[in-house]
Amino acid sequence: MPGASGGRIGNQRKGYRRIQVEQSGKRGRLTRLGRTLMRRRLVFSALYLLLAAAVILPAQSLLRDTLMFEQQQLINERLALYEQTIYGELQRYRTIPYLVAQSGLIHDLLRYRTPVLQANRYLEEAVRHSEADVIYIMDADGLTLASSNWRAPDNFIGGNFSFRAYFRDAMAGREGGQFAVGTTSRSPGYYISRPIELGEEVAGVAVVKINLTGIERSWQAHDEPVLVADQAGLIVMASRDAWRYRWLPGAGGGVVPPALEIPGAHVDEPPQLSLETIETGDYEIAVIDGEQFLSGSSWIEPLGWQLFYLSSLAPLNQRLDISLLIMIAAAVTVYLLIALLHERREKLRSRREAADAAELRAINGMLHTEIEERRRAEQELRAAEAELVQATKMAALGQISASVAHEINQPLAAMRTELASARLLIARGSQEDVADVLQQVEGLVQRMTVMTRELKNFARKSDGRAEPFDLNDSINNALLLLRGELTRASIQVYKALPNAPVEVLGEQVRLEQVTVNLVRNAIDAMKATQRRELRICVREESACAILAVEDSGSGIACDPRQLFEPFFTTKDSGAGMGLGLAIAERIVTAMGGSIGAENLPSGGARFTVTIPRRTS
Ligand code: ADP
Repeated sequence: MPGASGGRIGNQRKGYRRIQVEQSGKRGRLTRLGRTLMRRRLVFSALYLLLAAAVILPAQSLLRDTLMFEQQQLINERLALYEQTIYGELQRYRTIPYLVAQSGLIHDLLRYRTPVLQANRYLEEAVRHSEADVIYIMDADGLTLASSNWRAPDNFIGGNFSFRAYFRDAMAGREGGQFAVGTTSRSPGYYISRPIELGEEVAGVAVVKINLTGIERSWQAHDEPVLVADQAGLIVMASRDAWRYRWLPGAGGGVVPPALEIPGAHVDEPPQLSLETIETGDYEIAVIDGEQFLSGSSWIEPLGWQLFYLSSLAPLNQRLDISLLIMIAAAVTVYLLIALLHERREKLRSRREAADAAELRAINGMLHTEIEERRRAEQELRAAEAELVQATKMAALGQISASVAHEINQPLAAMRTELASARLLIARGSQEDVADVLQQVEGLVQRMTVMTRELKNFARKSDGRAEPFDLNDSINNALLLLRGELTRASIQVYKALPNAPVEVLGEQVRLEQVTVNLVRNAIDAMKATQRRELRICVREESACAILAVEDSGSGIACDPRQLFEPFFTTKDSGAGMGLGLAIAERIVTAMGGSIGAENLPSGGARFTVTIPRRTS
């Protein structure tokens, strides 16, 4: 239906405008979108940074703790090992002066000062077997009588070491032990002494000098920072040369700088080793000359020495740095991966959006073209329809011209006869009869006037504009016009109209014309019947309104479709022209509706007019 399709086209056009508006606002939307994306990216980066820090920092701390713990464990193991090594090494030599002190040869030497050569050889032999540095015998005055190094030019024989603490200890009947720098050899060593008793009396002292450099060399070979401080805090053994013979305050219990006993010359005060300790939780970190060490110490009990094992923190820090770097690199890689994936998704989405927009534009264009085409087609259709209606009317007029001529000829012939008889009556002077004849003529003229008016109506091309109106109103107007006729004919009118207005589109006056025609026909049809009831009812359906005009008249005697043909009438000549229903059908069709007729089972006829409702 043209009305319905027009409505759809109207909606589509609105849609088209909306799309255009959306496109023009695209730029602003894009910059807004860009800002939102940027903000989202910043928030994500900040959150990711926080998350990465929340993972990396505790992981680093955990790793540090683990590494420190492992290193501390290693330190403790090493300390136990070295403590054993040093103690065992010294223990190994402890028996030598004791055994030497028991020797009869040595007793003879102290008693008789002879045989010196055998004593020297004896001591030399003892050194060879024990790997001690030097073994020598002193008399009660501290004078060296025999020595294992008797062959060397700087041998100890004749030397007096009564000033040494180990000599004094031995003379007091005790075992002596002391670290010292040799006066003759100038080489440092550990001295262990024993008294040589002849009867009740201490007649001399047997001494073994031990060179500790072998142990140190093994430390150096393994690059392990170890140092040993004696009771005075003097570093007597160290894996690093720079640390040896320096004073470590507090170590070994020494609180005052010790003196390296070098008799005859002067008393050397050893330089101090700069060592700071930093307590970090369970660990102690020692800083020596700017280098950081994780340290551990233990006491070599029988000697009163303190052993320090230092483990450089540089490799640990390096491992921590590397792990930090790896974790940061992993976090950055993950971030980049996420960013890359996100970017790809964004690209895909924008590509899809662009494709959608292009598709939308294409559809839009197609829709626009289609709308234009439909509008043009509709205009053409309307024009063709109007032409057709007009042409049909004209054709109908052509067809009926003969019957019109016939219809007009009859009254004309009658008029001619009437006028001839009027002339005769005038000649006879019968005035009264002339008046009758003239009245007849007037009736004929009236009939012809009606016929020409209806023909004009039929042939008239509608130029009225379709406007919305209330169907109820048009029915009420029509009934108002016919009120007199209905009353005169004693017709009972039953009206059933909806309470709310029933909006339809068309020409209200024309529809009133249709209604008047239907009601008039009903009045005519009920002239011969006893029961005279007229029912007018309007009912609404979704797309149309239906007007039904029912009467209790004679009913339709022929095929109901015939009634709508022009000049079909069953009425007496002069009573009807047979154009009313033909005109009504054209009016209703022009409004996009239809008209039909049928007989009622209870007698009488029903005319039904269907008109499309106005859609808002
Ligand atoms: P006219 O009223 O001039 O005859 P119409 O076109 O209005 O022309 O009607 C054509 C014919 O249709 C009528 O002559 C009549 O025979 C028939 N007709 C119309 N209305 C009714 C009706 N309500 N009941 C029976 N016949 C009807």
